[in-house]
Amino acid sequence: MEARRRLDEPRSQFWLMSLRCCMLAGSVDVAFFFIFHYLGSPILAWVNVLSVPMYATAYWALLNRRNRLAVRLIWIEVMVHAALGSLLIGWDSGFHYYLLMFIPALYAGNRSFAWATFAVFCLWLFYVALNITTRLVEPLQPISDGALQGVYLFNLTTVFGMFSYLSLYYMLTVKRAHRDLKRMATTDPLTRLFNRRHMVELANQDISGSDADGARLAFLLMDVDHFKQINDQHGHDCGDQVLSQISQLLQATLREQDYVGRWGGEEFLAVLPDTDSLQAQQIAERVRMAVADHDWGRHGLDAPVTLSIGISQYRSGEVLGNSIARADAALYASKHGGRNRVEVAG
Ligand code: GH3
Ligand code: MG
Ligand code: MG
Repeated sequence: MEARRRLDEPRSQFWLMSLRCCMLAGSVDVAFFFIFHYLGSPILAWVNVLSVPMYATAYWALLNRRNRLAVRLIWIEVMVHAALGSLLIGWDSGFHYYLLMFIPALYAGNRSFAWATFAVFCLWLFYVALNITTRLVEPLQPISDGALQGVYLFNLTTVFGMFSYLSLYYMLTVKRAHRDLKRMATTDPLTRLFNRRHMVELANQDISGSDADGARLAFLLMDVDHFKQINDQHGHDCGDQVLSQISQLLQATLREQDYVGRWGGEEFLAVLPDTDSLQAQQIAERVRMAVADHDWGRHGLDAPVTLSIGISQYRSGEVLGNSIARADAALYASKHGGRNRVEVAG
C-alpha cells in the first residue's frame, strides 16, 4: 500500500504543478488585458477577460480534485487563445508557442502512453491547421510591426519561463522519487538499518577490497536473546520498539567506518573494516554491554534485553556465505554458553 502511494506521487505532484500553472497563466492574462488595450486590439484584450475566470475555475476544480473539468477548461482556454491570437494579429505573435506546453503535460499527466500520443498527434494537427490558415488569411486585427515584435518577445519569454519552471519542478520531483525508491530498496523500514540485500552488496565490496589489498575484515552476527518471550509477554509492538532501540544502540556504539544491517527477524550483522579479531572482540563487548545496560524499564520491560554475538574474521579467498556461517557457529556457541556473551569463530 505504502509503495503504491509513493508510486502515485509523481502524478499528485503533477496536479500541484498544474495548480501553480493556472495561477501563473491567469496572472499573465491580466497583464495581456492591459497590453492589448494599449496596443489597440480590443478583441484580444477582452479574450483575456474571459480567460481569467476560466483559469480561476480550473484552479478551483483542481483544488477540489475535479481534475477532468480543470483539464478541459485549460485545454479550451489555451487552444482558443492561441487560435484567436494567431488569427487576429498573425502567426508572428507567437501565441502558438503556448500549445507546445501541452506536449510534456500530456505525457506526464496521462497513464496511457497510447492516449497521450494520440492527443499529441491531434495537437499537431491543430497546430499545422492554424499555421496554414494564418498563411492563407491576413490578420483580422493587425497591430503595428513594433507592437507585434513586442507581443512576440513577451510570449516567447513567458513560454521559456514556464517551460523552465515546469522542467525544473518535474526534474526535482523525479529526483526525490528516485531517492525515496533507493532508500526503500536498501533499508529496513522498522529499524532504518540497511536491509540484508544491501548488506550483502556492501560486504561483498569489502571482501573484494580485502582480497585485493589484504585489509582485515571482521563480521559480528548478533541475535537478541529470548526475543520470543518479549513478544509473548509484552506484545509485538513492544518487540518492534525493542528492535528499533537496539538498532539505535548499535549505530551509536559501532565506529564510524563500521556498518550494520538487519540480517533477519531479530538478528543483526555488523561489518567491521580494518579490524582484527581482538579489536572485533572489544567492539562486540562494547555493543553487548551497551544493550544490556540500557534502561529497558523505560520500554515497560522488567528484565534487561541482551544480545549473543558471534564473530568471524574474513579469510582471504572465502565467499561471504562462509564468513557468515562461521560467525553463525560462534553465535550458536554463545547461545549455548549461556547467552549475553561474545564468541569468536575458530
Ligand atoms: P534465542 O535466545 O534462542 O534467540 O530465542 P529467541 O526467542 O530470540 O528466538 P526465536 O527464534 O525462538 O524467536 C525469534 C522471534 O522473533 C520470533 C519472531 O516472531 C520474532 N520476530 C521476528 N521478526 C520480528 C519483528 O519484526 N517484530 C517483532 N516484534 N518480532 C519479530
Ligand atoms: Mg534468531
Ligand atoms: Mg533470538
